[in-house]
Order: sequence, then structure tokens, then C-alpha cells
Amino acid sequence: MSAMDKILCINETDGDLSCQSGARWEQINDTLRDKDIPLFFPLDPGPGATIGGMIGTGCSGTNAVRYGTARAEWFLNITVVLPSGEVIKTRSRARKSAAGFDTTKLFIGAEGTLGIVTEATLRLAPVIPTKVAIAQFPDVEHAVSAVQEILNSPYGPHLQCVELLDDQMMSAINKAGVVDHPYPVKDTLFFKIQGAPEAIKLTSDVVKEITNKHGSDRFEFAADEEAADLWQNRKYALTSSIALVPDARCWTTDVCVPTSRLPQLVYETKQDMAKSGIRSTIVGHVGDGNFHALMLFTNDEELRIVNEAVHRLVHRAIALEGTCTGEHGVGVGKREYLRDELGEGTVELMRTVKRAIDPLNLFNPGKLYPEPSMPSGATSKRTETHKDVRI
Ligand SMILES: Cc1cc2nc3c(=O)[nH]c(=O)nc-3n(C[C@H](O)[C@H](O)[C@H](O)COP(=O)(O)OP(=O)(O)OC[C@H]3O[C@@H](n4cnc5c(N)ncnc54)[C@H](O)[C@@H]3O)c2cc1C
Repeated sequence: MSAMDKILCINETDGDLSCQSGARWEQINDTLRDKDIPLFFPLDPGPGATIGGMIGTGCSGTNAVRYGTARAEWFLNITVVLPSGEVIKTRSRARKSAAGFDTTKLFIGAEGTLGIVTEATLRLAPVIPTKVAIAQFPDVEHAVSAVQEILNSPYGPHLQCVELLDDQMMSAINKAGVVDHPYPVKDTLFFKIQGAPEAIKLTSDVVKEITNKHGSDRFEFAADEEAADLWQNRKYALTSSIALVPDARCWTTDVCVPTSRLPQLVYETKQDMAKSGIRSTIVGHVGDGNFHALMLFTNDEELRIVNEAVHRLVHRAIALEGTCTGEHGVGVGKREYLRDELGEGTVELMRTVKRAIDPLNLFNPGKLYPEPSMPSGATSKRTETHKDVRI
């Protein structure tokens, strides 16, 4: 679908836009900027992601703290080709609708198993001025408790993004030579604060006060011209990690837990990886409890060790009332965990929907739904080597 990438119509007054499913989120936001339209589409997953793929995975990204995920109402209406060949629209362009089931949601996170999205109407948000700041902490626990206090304060809604980069990640960024001045190697939070200038000033004062209270010894508020560079440093996370080990490949995996459980998850995972001898960095959309581990391997034996560590990480997250994937999706490699996380009844309901819409199992067979015969992740030995993203 990537060649079907046209923006079809921009309704500035209504704050929406219609496009084909191969359009990319950066292309949409660049087009709005080039046309001086002060609106943007706030879902920001990986570079080059298309609207169809973003619907397929139920994506999110750094902006989810303020704007939520693809499962919020950013997709007003979608056009879908069903396995029968019938073409349907799920809704009108109206902002709200109480007309029956929310069939748009049926396709969000369906990973292409129920239909092929060809067009979508996206809700847009106003562009709001932002500033970027960083704070550094003695450990992840202090960083997370600061984030929780900030988000629960009256200034929480001014936080657009809160990203965690662990000490190993900061070291990787320094070693990769992508920053002018090396950062101290400590667990670090990157904030994007948004609002009118007075609101930004008030919010940043509160953020500084709270981060200090939680043990931060460094709070740096970027000047306007530095902000993009500072944020870009967060985006270097993947390439910087790969640069740590010559000829390494990287298995990135994501899980998500209630935010209060994140420090335990990070602590136990770091212990596990150290014990297993895995070179790894950690980044996270910490405002949402979403955690990404980037594990490096150079040969089949290291791949096997990484594979087993991912298995343990997923179980740790589910045991902490979390999910096997916060945003990357289930695909093939995480099917075995769905029953542990959701229960057999919920998984069977998904299979029932799949059978009703695609009785011949034509669309993405073998994805998303665990076979009834598949052993649950809790008891299985991890033998598959499918990755969320292997680069
Ligand atoms: C460096 C990096 C950073 C990332 N950061 C994030 C992040 O912060 N947040 C996040 O959510 N994800 C992130 N991702 C993952 C990725 O960007 C998302 O999963 C994204 O939504 C995938 O979009 P895509 O167009 O590449 O879809 P694909 O990977 O091509 O497809 C994804 C799924 O959707 C289905 N699909 C694709 N097009 C259609 C269509 N037209 N109709 C129906 N089904 C379709 C596919 O069959 C597949 O099952 C990151 C990835 C990388 C490499």
C-alpha cells in the first residue's frame, strides 16, 4: 500500500484531513507546515510509518503522554476492503458518533487480519509552542516517581512527552559522537513542555522543583534553537545502541506496565541482562510505563540468549499487570503470550470476529491470534526467533 500515499483533502476549519493509507505521518505534518496550517497529526511512531501500518499496529509514540494512542479518536473514519471484496467506510467525518458499534476500532491493532485500509480521515490537533528540558537522576526509581508527581499535578497536561534513557543509553549516545558535549552517564528524562509562554514558564519551574525533590542534580532547559537538537538526541537512541558493538544486530522489544511498576521492571530486567551477559540499552515512553529494551547480538548463540531474555521480560511485564506489547504489536512472535495476558475467553472472542469477517483466513494468516493448540507462553520453551523489529 506504500505507493497509495496521497493526501486527498485538508479541512482546516474542521481540523481534519483525509489521505490514502500509504501516507506517512512525517509527510502529513511536513505538508501542513509547508502550507502554513497550524495543525498537526500527533501520533509519532517510527520513522517512515504509514497510516495503514499505524492503524494496523494500534501505534503510539513519544506524544502519547498528552495525545494518547491510535486507540484514541485520531482516526475518525477509515475505508476498508474486507476479505469478501466489499469496500466499507466505518463512520462519517463528524467528530463524534454514537451510531452503533465502533467499527473503526475493530481494525485498529488488527494487524491487517480483518481488512486492508485504503483511506483514512484523521483528526488534527493545534500546533502548540514547546520547549525541551532534561533532568538526570541517581536511578530509574527516582526518575519515575518524579514523573508521576509531575503528571498528577495541575501542570501535568502541559507535558507533551516524557522519555527515559537509561545510563547505558546515555553512554551509547556519548560514544556514538552524535552530541556536541557528552552527557553525564546517568538515568535521564527528556521532557517536552507545551503551552503559551507563561504556561511553559510556570510548568518548567514546577518540573524543576519536583525533579530536584526526587534527587535530580541536573535540570537543563534548552533554548529555542537547541530544543530540536536535544530532542533529536532521543531519536538517535537506536542507531547509537547499534554502534556500541561492531557488526551487531539489534532486537528491540517493547512491553508496557502501570507506571508505578516501571522501576521494578527496569531493575529486574537490567539484573537479568547483566547476568545473561547481554549488551543492551533501555529507552522508554516513561509517562505511559512503556519500556523498550534494545538488545544486541552478533551470532546465533547470542541470539538464543537474547531470545530467552525477551521471553522472561514479557512474563515479568504480564506478572506486573502489564502487556506483552505497548505499541509494536503482536505479529507472529508474541502470539503465545496473548492467553496469559487476556485469558482464553478474550482470545476466543478475537478468533470469532476473525472467522466472521475472514472465514477463509485469507488476510495475514498466522498473525496475531494464537492457535488453540499453541502452548501458553508461561509454559512454553522459547524456541521461535521472530522479532518485533530486528535491525
Ligand atoms: C526506530 C523505530 C522506532 C519506533 N518507534 C515507535 C514508537 O515510538 N511507537 C510505535 O508505536 N511504534 C514504533 N515503532 C514501530 C513502527 O513504527 C510502528 O509499528 C508503525 O505503526 C508501523 O508502521 P508501518 O507503516 O511500518 O507498518 P508495517 O510494519 O508495514 O505494518 C504493520 C502492520 O499493519 C498491517 N498493515 C500495514 N498497512 C496496512 C493497511 N493499509 N491496511 C491494513 N493493515 C495494514 C501490516 O500487515 C502489519 O501487520 C518504531 C520502529 C522503529 C524501526
